[in-house]
Amino acid sequence: MNSAARSPTVPGPPLLGYEEAAALVAAYAAGLGGLRRAAERVDLASALGRVLAQDLCADRDQPPFTRSTRDGFACRAAEASAHAFLRLAGASRAGDAPAGPLPPGTAWEIMTGAPVPLGADAVAMIEHVEIVGAKVRLLPPRALEPGENIVPQGAQAHAGDELLAAGGVIHPQQIALAATCGYAALDVYMRPRVAILATGDELVPVEAEPAAGQIRNSNAPMLAAMVAASGGEPWILPRAADHAKALDAALAQAAQADLLVISGGVSAGKFDLVEPALARMGASFHFTGVKIQPGKPAVFGELPKKRGARKEKSRVPFFGLPGNPVSSAVTFLLFAAPVLAALGGSMGPGTRFALARLKSASDKHGKPGLTRFLPAHCDFGGTIPEVELVPWQGSGDLAALARSNCFLVVPEEAHRLEAGSIVRILLAS
Ligand code: AMP
Ligand code: MG
Repeated sequence: MNSAARSPTVPGPPLLGYEEAAALVAAYAAGLGGLRRAAERVDLASALGRVLAQDLCADRDQPPFTRSTRDGFACRAAEASAHAFLRLAGASRAGDAPAGPLPPGTAWEIMTGAPVPLGADAVAMIEHVEIVGAKVRLLPPRALEPGENIVPQGAQAHAGDELLAAGGVIHPQQIALAATCGYAALDVYMRPRVAILATGDELVPVEAEPAAGQIRNSNAPMLAAMVAASGGEPWILPRAADHAKALDAALAQAAQADLLVISGGVSAGKFDLVEPALARMGASFHFTGVKIQPGKPAVFGELPKKRGARKEKSRVPFFGLPGNPVSSAVTFLLFAAPVLAALGGSMGPGTRFALARLKSASDKHGKPGLTRFLPAHCDFGGTIPEVELVPWQGSGDLAALARSNCFLVVPEEAHRLEAGSIVRILLAS
């Protein structure tokens, strides 16, 4: 479709710079913060990767009792530091109730994790003492400070303290905290439902044998996986033909979702009919192109939301991603992932960048004025992440995409990136 034909139906800024588009998406995502979201309660074992819909509070002090961090002897630091023998007054192992009080001039045998007896203010490590019969002394010249090898009750948190806020993604470390605070189940936000609509006459499903000229629809399963990895619930629609009626019907169905990801049909070709179809449905467009490579024709906007036949007042965000698989992957990560994260109630950015050292120089010239995202492989095994470009034959190269785990960000003004320089990468997973 040429620009003359596009302008009456597709208003709005036609082509944004990368930073401008990223900022627009980030602001849009931030604006979703106040959205009312449904929540569900899931077992702790099923909470991994979900977004907390409740604050998580300490049910008791952490630690719940003054605890020894060593195997050794609880004592008074001042007495132990005089190096006289101290009589053993008792013993505590992990799980025992707090004991004591510790009589003056005595020590108390103690194991890691056991409650420190009342009156003791330090623990001498077993490696640092001499034991003779039922007496023990700290070996000179070592001295003990009050507080050494113990964690006082409540040092990490007090009962009732808020330890995690709603909106955090649940990783294994948050599961551990929930468990220690007695949460056998957690309230998490429902996953946003994301319609995935691949368009293109040439596409056949993965189960079908493609005829000459046809290709398998690889974007739908790829985007579904990306949606799932970003906390959404993918809803794959049958592929739509490059035909106005087919697109209208498919979009009407897809507009029931919380987010719509369309692939293909947004370039400037004769059968790129997605934007006019969106416009017919009352779409507003935030951008209809971004100065990036690959992925320049990417489209972002909103449609009136539909539930059944009824139009609602609310609007559903959509992304029209160029159909080439590398373009689809890059534009999903850059633009759709942050909006999806925000729809799901996550306070995180949804897109992950990192710094890495470039293994060999890159002087791949692209079109000037475009920020490039080139398939690359980053080795995270060393001291510093080291990244290397993956040779590729353009944005349809799925084999190269599968050998990559990130995209090297080449700023629009950069002509050449030197070997050894610190570069920015967009993480693909
Ligand atoms: P388009 O964005 O529709 O112009 O498509 C650009 C290129 O991507 C064409 O070579 C398409 O055949 C290819 N393509 C489009 N959609 C898909 C898809 N779902 N899976 C794999 N390749 C696709
Ligand atoms: Mg197409």
